[in-house]
Amino acid sequence: MDNFSRFEAASASDILSWAIDTFGDSFAIATSFQKEGMVILDLASRLSAGVRVFTLDTGRLPDETYRMMETVRQRYGIPVDIIFPERDEVEHLVAFHGPNLFYSSVQARQRCCDVRKVRPLERKLETLKAWATGLRRDQAETRAAISKVERGPTGRMKICPLADWSAARVEQYIAQHGVPVHPLYERGFTSIGCAPCTRAVQPGESERAGRWWWEEDAKKECGIHFAPDGSVARNIVEEAEPREMHKGFTVWFTGMSGAGKSTISRLLELKLRQHGARVEVLDGDIVRTHLSKGLGFSKEDRDENVRRIGFVCELLARHGVIAIAAAI
Ligand code: SF4
Repeated sequence: MDNFSRFEAASASDILSWAIDTFGDSFAIATSFQKEGMVILDLASRLSAGVRVFTLDTGRLPDETYRMMETVRQRYGIPVDIIFPERDEVEHLVAFHGPNLFYSSVQARQRCCDVRKVRPLERKLETLKAWATGLRRDQAETRAAISKVERGPTGRMKICPLADWSAARVEQYIAQHGVPVHPLYERGFTSIGCAPCTRAVQPGESERAGRWWWEEDAKKECGIHFAPDGSVARNIVEEAEPREMHKGFTVWFTGMSGAGKSTISRLLELKLRQHGARVEVLDGDIVRTHLSKGLGFSKEDRDENVRRIGFVCELLARHGVIAIAAAI
């Protein structure tokens, strides 16, 4: 059984030194260029010029964060690996839920964090044996029990060298060592994330009050660091997509009998349902046994069948359903 309690008494610098020596290139520092991340970066740069650093570019970051990436490159000469979300996942998210879905519900916000942050982080971590983050225990209730060093369920080491640091100690280190500070702190921000989800805090508010400020009771976490029980874990949102947030329209497959219209329709239906869409297939032959019972195969009867299918498709689409028609 692992016993990493020995690290509790170790300094942040000693822990980073151990991680760099032990894991080499399989160790990296994750940072969003907040004060804690910059302190870790500064400490690590004094130990190794080649320490690896990465950041997640969600596509919704404030301009000031990109300026910090440049500052780090210039000040420390450390290249920052910028990790992006999968384009297809973002396109799907935005197509079905809109670009600002995070304001509509906690679940929608977590879904956005999942696509733009959690999954990219997961992909990056698969390349590492150990990683460091700037979490501190007194930042939030959800962070009160973090360890300085712990092994995750997959065996990867998660290192929080500043776990027992206070905000004042972070400030002191920054002042002593001239560490670059994210410009948004000057404008009253105390925690910095994506532009639409972060605001400055008021005097007396908690450090993370400016994150997802419109949420009242939710834990202010994106799913990267904490499971719902407060233990340190990733928390990928598995919940199904809501079923009433896309527009209705009609897809019509036509062709001779045996051309594969029904098969293609069912495959498309399956795919769309996997993405949570509301779909109905109107197969010409099946419609004939219900809505068009009694119609034959003369040109007039075929036209009438198609007209009826079109009418139903239009009604379905008007009510937000994707109607797939498969008829000659
Ligand atoms: S912080 Fe906001 S914009 Fe950024 S990933 Fe989460 S919900 Fe999306």
